[in-house]
Amino acid sequence: MRPFTYERPTDARTAVSAVSRSGAKFISGGTNLLDLMKLDIEHPSHLIDISRLPMRDIEELPDGGLRIGAQAVNSDVAADDRVRTRYPVLSQALVSGASGQLRNKASTGGNLLQRTRCPYFYDTAAGCNKRDPGSGCSAIGGFNRIHAVLGASDACIATHPSDMAVAMTALEAEIELLDAEGSVRRVVITDFYRLPGDTPHLETVLRPGELITGVILPPPPPGRQLYRKVRDRASYEFALVSVAAVVSTERGMISEARVAFGGVAHKPWRSFEAEAALIGRPAEMATYRDAARAAMRDAVGQGHNDFKIELARRTLCRTLAQAARSS
Ligand SMILES: Cc1cc2nc3c(=O)[nH]c(=O)nc-3n(C[C@H](O)[C@H](O)[C@H](O)COP(=O)(O)OP(=O)(O)OC[C@H]3O[C@@H](n4cnc5c(N)ncnc54)[C@H](O)[C@@H]3O)c2cc1C
Ligand code: SF4
Repeated sequence: MRPFTYERPTDARTAVSAVSRSGAKFISGGTNLLDLMKLDIEHPSHLIDISRLPMRDIEELPDGGLRIGAQAVNSDVAADDRVRTRYPVLSQALVSGASGQLRNKASTGGNLLQRTRCPYFYDTAAGCNKRDPGSGCSAIGGFNRIHAVLGASDACIATHPSDMAVAMTALEAEIELLDAEGSVRRVVITDFYRLPGDTPHLETVLRPGELITGVILPPPPPGRQLYRKVRDRASYEFALVSVAAVVSTERGMISEARVAFGGVAHKPWRSFEAEAALIGRPAEMATYRDAARAAMRDAVGQGHNDFKIELARRTLCRTLAQAARSS
């Protein structure tokens, strides 16, 4: 690991002003960033430790939503009674991620910004446009079992690894950002993440020096919420495919639906195509299959990951059937 300097500000304004220094970076739980520094993939010369900023609270909003502070750790968010009862899809997604120890350290802001798990990204001997722009993509034509089937580009086929962000996408969360001038802006999570295009090293619309201060959850949508994660082993493993679904039915017909996939794209993937194929249709398997076909209509496999397309269809059908049964 390269040498770096360190400071621990006590308020958010000082933190955003400190990060304007060249080579500076925020560190929160450190569960992703420290690994990347040890592997010489990220090499900040100055770390601003934001883990003790007073941003851990989960607060009620007047409209019935919740505001989750960026420093709230994953285990606290998952265990919060209001999250468990009003946003169970978020609690389920969080609990399905990482391990208990990691969830006790991993922050809400850090989880949103965790980097891909593409093995070539971690292998500094391999070409990787995300790590080293212009060096090529070793996963295309390489071992690409965990890679994207939707929204990929010729420059990068990586997936976003967060479970939490998939649930937040189905919940239409907004990310709250603070810049060095003290301005606060909010970005809807579907607009927060970028597709790889020609610039896979740019993963979000976060501007240099901006700090994530919180996540706003709008009032819960009607219907049953469910998160289903399919992975190579039952725990402590990233998703091959995951689905966050919210389904509301009236007299056997689907009145409202939200669908987001994890593990299939460079960003949590909201499937408006699947939602359009569900709303106004009977809550039955034929409808779920149509929605699954619509969701994967533009999917393209890279060889080893071809199985993900059918896996995503089946995972969606099973999740919808279970959600609709009890909605
Ligand atoms: C073995 C292992 C298994 C895992 N399994 C899963 C899994 O199954 N599912 C899953 O979703 N995740 C999984 N994770 C990832 C884990 O959830 C992330 O490492 C964690 O959420 C990152 O949070 P952190 O606070 O530690 O971030 P850090 O590592 O401290 O930071 C990550 C990045 O975010 C930036 N950052 C942090 N906070 C802010 C902020 N408030 N504003 C601006 N920038 C910020 C940092 O500068 C850094 O670039 C796993 C991790 C490990 C090590
Ligand atoms: S898929 Fe993206 S992260 Fe993986 S090697 Fe290609 S450019 Fe790098």
